[in-house]
Amino acid sequence: MAKPKVFITRKLPEEVVSPFRNQLDIDMWPEEEKAVPRQTMLEKCKDMDGVVTMLSDKIDEQLLGQAPSLKIVCNLAVGYDNIDLDAAQKHGVTVTNTPDVLTDTTADLTFGLLMATARRLVEANQYIKDGKWNHWSPLLLAGKDIHHKTIGIVGMGRIGEAVAKRATGFEMEILYHNRSRKQDAERNLGATYVEMDELLERSDFVVCMTPLTDETREMFDEQAFRKMKKDAMFINGSRGQTVNEGDLYDALVKGEIAAAGLDVFEKEPIGKDHPLLKLDQVVCLPHIGSASVETRHEMMKLCLDNLDLYFQEKQPKTVVI
Ligand code: NAP
Repeated sequence: MAKPKVFITRKLPEEVVSPFRNQLDIDMWPEEEKAVPRQTMLEKCKDMDGVVTMLSDKIDEQLLGQAPSLKIVCNLAVGYDNIDLDAAQKHGVTVTNTPDVLTDTTADLTFGLLMATARRLVEANQYIKDGKWNHWSPLLLAGKDIHHKTIGIVGMGRIGEAVAKRATGFEMEILYHNRSRKQDAERNLGATYVEMDELLERSDFVVCMTPLTDETREMFDEQAFRKMKKDAMFINGSRGQTVNEGDLYDALVKGEIAAAGLDVFEKEPIGKDHPLLKLDQVVCLPHIGSASVETRHEMMKLCLDNLDLYFQEKQPKTVVI
């Protein structure tokens, strides 16, 4: 029997891909840094049985409507806001993601971003590199304490909880807000459920870890920033579109909040002229939450395992729909 035809939309390491070549007829985009052009993607998917996608690939009605043999889309991310689930359902396409394997790595980065923002690590590094370290002064690059402060986690899911676990080591008070309560996190981590407004009003660090949905799109806007303390810091490790970036910029410039640490942006990648890059009190990272070599390899392997299981008529490990 012919092997299922599969398209991988970015060059992945051969050591991860090769164990699957016996079972799958793999066509892999040869570029590691450049995404497949949309037109090529549409053409490629026309006769594929499966596809491994990146979060920068849009899987929508247009693509699914002209890919009659496509049965499964395996997204190399836990978030799947790049995929139109209604369209996938309509076309009978299974969608998988990569939860769990990236939880700790993303929580490490998110907490690291919080620390870098609070203690001005990036600014301090630049200060020395610019040859400015020629004196000591009592408040030189003084930041904000993290220990014993209050962290407010919006989106206390797998990663949110792992961030909260890290916060316990700093003896922080942990507030969280979800649509539903997580009794386990309350019991195990001493986290307290609060309404969104209370979280914004009381937290020293507001951390966004929700998925991007119609409900969470731009949930951090002018009103939200205005409710935060003037010395509060906003950390985003989820998706850029949960934030209205214009409102965030204004809140920072007007001093309505003190600082921000951002791993994600409204429209990625951002160029060097992005207004938020001009502010010293903002730490920006190029969407590297889950980017450790070990975790990225685990994510790739999970995508390929899911494909393989599907075509063996077994249940993939991590199905979204
Ligand atoms: P998860 O386990 O599904 O957690 C998401 C949490 O968000 C849930 O606790 C959910 O609780 C809450 N939530 C959903 N809608 C909400 C709303 N409208 N208001 C308040 N809370 C809401 O997902 P995860 O594995 O932790 O991943 C979370 C997100 O992180 C992903 O979707 C992805 O976008 C992002 N991420 C980013 C990176 C990166 O590189 N920066 C890496 C990995 C993941 P309720 O359902 O009770 O509301």
